[in-house]
Amino acid sequence: MERLVGEKKRVIVIGGGVGGSMISQKLQNDADVILIDPKEYYEIPWAILRAMVQPSFAERIVVKHSDYLPNAQIVTSAASGITETDVLTAQGHSIKYDYLVIATGHAHTGDSTKAGRIHHFQAEQEKIKSANSILIVGGGPTGVELAAEIVVDFPDKKVTLVHRGQRLLEFIGEKAGKKALNWLTSKKVEVILNQSVNLDSQTDGVYETSGGEKIVADCHFLCAGQGIASSWLKETILRDSLDREGRLMVDSNLRVKGRSNIFAIGDITDIPELKLGYLANNHALVAAKNLKLLMSGTNKTKLSTYTPAPAAAIVSLGRREGIIQIRCLTLCGRIPAGIMKSGDLFVTKSRKERGLKS
Ligand SMILES: Cc1cc2nc3c(=O)[nH]c(=O)nc-3n(C[C@H](O)[C@H](O)[C@H](O)COP(=O)(O)OP(=O)(O)OC[C@H]3O[C@@H](n4cnc5c(N)ncnc54)[C@H](O)[C@@H]3O)c2cc1C
Repeated sequence: MERLVGEKKRVIVIGGGVGGSMISQKLQNDADVILIDPKEYYEIPWAILRAMVQPSFAERIVVKHSDYLPNAQIVTSAASGITETDVLTAQGHSIKYDYLVIATGHAHTGDSTKAGRIHHFQAEQEKIKSANSILIVGGGPTGVELAAEIVVDFPDKKVTLVHRGQRLLEFIGEKAGKKALNWLTSKKVEVILNQSVNLDSQTDGVYETSGGEKIVADCHFLCAGQGIASSWLKETILRDSLDREGRLMVDSNLRVKGRSNIFAIGDITDIPELKLGYLANNHALVAAKNLKLLMSGTNKTKLSTYTPAPAAAIVSLGRREGIIQIRCLTLCGRIPAGIMKSGDLFVTKSRKERGLKS
């Protein structure tokens, strides 16, 4: 991938999740965009739990990068290094850049092909369908949303949710946690708080909690929060740009502090706000605008600034209901959270934003 004089500026985007897919799509006609991602597809993260109970949903939420990036190059590999001029890939390639965008929010642990990923969702649904009792470990948004998907689609299954924290949904307010607890228990989910489960100690379908309780379950799902995928940056020129939590420190224009041609967007940044996909999208729009300005030679003082967003989140509870928190207001039910999110899970919106049919 050598450069020719007079060509468009090259922007390398590392990470094909929410932020990386969005910024690549926005820049592909203005720059020589190369997206580096270990998997061949973008997956809408907040819709994967629905795909676990309804695998046909996966066809719409797993989108090959090449489908929405006809004018960009895709490198299916992890990035393993960055120098002042090049990105190094795990496959041993070295690719030159003019501008760089780091968007490696979380490592993807699933299959690298779309076909493999869809097969995974079919297998997950089989696992749920064939179980009478299911243990979910983790009471953050993933555990709560998965428990809700299962009890709404399979109301006869016995679902137990164990969470080591004092309350559910600790990433948002206490009221949201209480409403989630009430909703789940009203659907006969057994919720056990302040305890953990050693999954390795399971024998013959009996799990033991840290408090000595025995849980009988035919299968389990581990829904623990994922760490930030930034350890690979520790051996690069950006090692001193990481804060204590491993997040990249950015300025108000979303450039890595002290770097004129390297941006960071999404969950990997140290922006003081909730780590959410719709915010990663917003970062991508601001960074894309700034990259276009820089590539056109505009004065650096004209760059757009990003303002951290106030806390707002929606947790879906199956296909019709949900919990919404906006600042200090928290509501549970069909209106407005269920109507806003739970039916389509923003899949149509996410696809349209990337130039795809709904
Ligand atoms: C179950 C669930 C439900 C959620 N619900 C919501 C919701 O309702 N609303 C909302 O706004 N947010 C929601 N979120 C949060 C949202 O998904 C994240 O905030 C968002 O994905 C962050 O986007 P990102 O681009 O920073 O990182 P990610 O989307 O995590 O993407 C990171 C990308 O980087 C790639 N990568 C990692 N390491 C490397 C490397 N070394 N080289 C190259 N590529 C690499 C990965 O393969 C991945 O493609 C939810 C998350 C989950 C898991």
